[in-house]
Amino acid sequence: MSPAETALNALTAYEQGNSEAVDQLLNLRKELLSKISFGKPKPSSQSYCTYNLLEEWFAIYNSQIQISNGIAAIKKLLLWAKHNESVQTIEMFQQPEWKQLVQLRGPVEAILHCRCRKCGKEFLGMGTSGFSDEAGWICSVCGAVIFRSVYNLEPAPVCKCGGKTFSNCPNCDSKEFELLQTSSPYGYFSNHTWQRVN
Ligand SMILES: [Zn+2]
Ligand SMILES: [Zn+2]
Repeated sequence: MSPAETALNALTAYEQGNSEAVDQLLNLRKELLSKISFGKPKPSSQSYCTYNLLEEWFAIYNSQIQISNGIAAIKKLLLWAKHNESVQTIEMFQQPEWKQLVQLRGPVEAILHCRCRKCGKEFLGMGTSGFSDEAGWICSVCGAVIFRSVYNLEPAPVCKCGGKTFSNCPNCDSKEFELLQTSSPYGYFSNHTWQRVN
């Protein structure tokens, strides 16, 4: 059975309430990760796609919120990938269902729970991918997030609600923080909005 098909079957079983399916999904994720990291022989490109989709599933699972449209999008992408051994992640990232996943979690890998090293204030940060060159500015009133290029040095953007936004410590603006924990962006963006500005 292909990796995408194995994942699809486990995900379907998970949705039907099969409690062992979670372990199957976690094990498959681990197995694919080890293949990708130390890949000899080189894993199929379908393995990369499946691994990426299992990461999305895990982030949803971790949020402890039912995000059924997210699960539905992952299943559609697995279905799309399962007949094609050489399907590329770059193709997958262009599918409407992948864009739907990004819409649900924002361009964020993890929500960072930070403690300022200078003043001790605890605050949230957006863990964006190192490739993206985007910083997340979080509204101090409603928690909505504005993503803007890190090269844009204009003053902090103002939220739609009129609130001030911050991307460093909201108390002293220090960039130095201790990471206390991370949480799932699917959880955060299930009740906060995000947008991109130039
Ligand atoms: Zn501070
Ligand atoms: Zn706001």
